[in-house]
Amino acid sequence: MIVAGNWKMFAGPDPAALAQRVADIDGVDVIVCPPYISLTRCVEAGLTTYAQNVHWEDEGAFTGEISPPMLLALGVAGSLVGHSERRQYFGETDADVARRTEAALEAGLRVIACVGETREQRDADDTETVLRIQVDAIRDACGAHEQLVLAYEPVWAIGTGLTATPELAEEAHALIKSLLDVPVLYGGSVKPDNAAELMAKPSVDGALVGGASLDVESFAAICEAASRSRS
Ligand code: PEP
Repeated sequence: MIVAGNWKMFAGPDPAALAQRVADIDGVDVIVCPPYISLTRCVEAGLTTYAQNVHWEDEGAFTGEISPPMLLALGVAGSLVGHSERRQYFGETDADVARRTEAALEAGLRVIACVGETREQRDADDTETVLRIQVDAIRDACGAHEQLVLAYEPVWAIGTGLTATPELAEEAHALIKSLLDVPVLYGGSVKPDNAAELMAKPSVDGALVGGASLDVESFAAICEAASRSRS
């Protein structure tokens, strides 16, 4: 099982306190995705640390971006790619997501690439089409790379307190896995009180956690639920 905490543009918890709290949780790959300014502190605390995004070039005139070799030099293990906030607010396309993912994997980073439909797309019965388009773009660029994980994050469930039902998550995960056979995390308002039922589903390989990852105890409780789910 994999549990990744996306701190977004928040300071997040104390890395050393978090590292100590999750150290003995068995069977779970615990990952943190802090803002760039906290990457080094998280690495030094012994946490498996991912960036929240990564560019496809090694260097160049790309203001505000960071490259795979730069992250590797800090001891960063991987990166999120294609989070819905990047797609929604910064115009990232499926082609951008595929290019970022491919370059990061080639450089030796691990990647959690995010896919998911909006409320409007779900209401219009377009969920399957949207997921196919998003996953195909990644698959065509990288295939089932062993350092690649996908996260199914329905946009309507992110930061809203609305979680997909375990059945709905399972259905989407099974579709995604039929398109690209890699682990798939669920993301969208995962909390200590709903984590166990989501992660009990066979096609749910862990969680990508936003808000609840900002608190050591709630994030640790989700990691513990992941540990129990496959024991
Ligand atoms: C996320 O940011 O990836 C996320 C799932 O956020 P939240 O858990 O707050 O919905």
